[in-house]
Amino acid sequence: MKIGFIGLGNMGGPMAANLAKAGHDVTGFDMADVSIDGVTMAQSGGAAATNADVVITMLPNGAILRAVAEEIIPAMSAGAALVDCSTVDVDSARAVAALSAEAGLHAVDAPVSGGIGGAAAGTLTFMAGGSPDAFAKAAPLFDIMGQKAVHCGDAGAGQAAKICNNMILGVTMIATCEAFALADKLGLDRQKMFDVVSTSSGYSWTMNAYCPAPGVGPQSPADNDYQPGFASELMLKDLRLSQQAAESADADTPMGQQATALYEQFVETENGHGSDFSAMLPRFEKRGRN
Ligand code: NAD
Repeated sequence: MKIGFIGLGNMGGPMAANLAKAGHDVTGFDMADVSIDGVTMAQSGGAAATNADVVITMLPNGAILRAVAEEIIPAMSAGAALVDCSTVDVDSARAVAALSAEAGLHAVDAPVSGGIGGAAAGTLTFMAGGSPDAFAKAAPLFDIMGQKAVHCGDAGAGQAAKICNNMILGVTMIATCEAFALADKLGLDRQKMFDVVSTSSGYSWTMNAYCPAPGVGPQSPADNDYQPGFASELMLKDLRLSQQAAESADADTPMGQQATALYEQFVETENGHGSDFSAMLPRFEKRGRN
């Protein structure tokens, strides 16, 4: 397949390299001067998209995605597919799908979970929105870049799934961290807390698989001085997307709202920028009730 790949950063770079390694003809473009194994670099997004069967984008946010889509859609051939794997707002995903449909293109919003490690290993999970035909066109590429792809529904459904998942993740990380800090003050040993909660009704991915307490549970960023992992500012980006979506859909999300406010405070005024999102635990440790 002839593939255009736009946005070759931490995630896009290894994803494009895996497509090239699998034998696809990949032409890439990034604003920064990058080179990726097996990928031919083009001078513009439009040039990378010309004659491609599928164009994949992996960009920082919805505004950039919309600008790139306006540039590349006129360069794409009717029947080709535009597959956006960035994490962006649902409205931008739907706007790009509408522009693509007008031009006779297939569109899929397909954000990923699995991080930089999953991108390099080809073990990402894709959550996709778009027509069944559009999903079918992208599916063989998801199989190369990832280990699982769920077709969630029409345009925007992939971003909706990603945003809802990460809202739960942000809320449960805060709940897990504040519970550890409370347990400390009650004199409860952290290992005992883990042993009980990880096998009781308070268990969660943040407790069982990504425990924010150093030396407790499986290896996690807490054991590496809270180096990310998944940086707090990226969690804040996703929580803000959840609140933007809630606003636009008139949904009541008080826990998501509170988690967004806490990560905002942590990242913007409490030196949380650059720390893993589980560094909420040392933040809570230092605080009292008021
Ligand atoms: P990144 O900043 O490393 O990469 C983004 C790339 O896009 C950069 O190389 C940048 O130069 C390029 N770019 C920006 N504007 C451009 C334009 N107009 N034309 C061409 N290239 C342009 O970011 P990343 O970590 O690769 O993340 C990309 C997306 O994936 C984001 O939406 C992020 O939320 C999502 N995501 C990231 C992770 C992660 O762990 N890093 C996990 C899941 C999802």
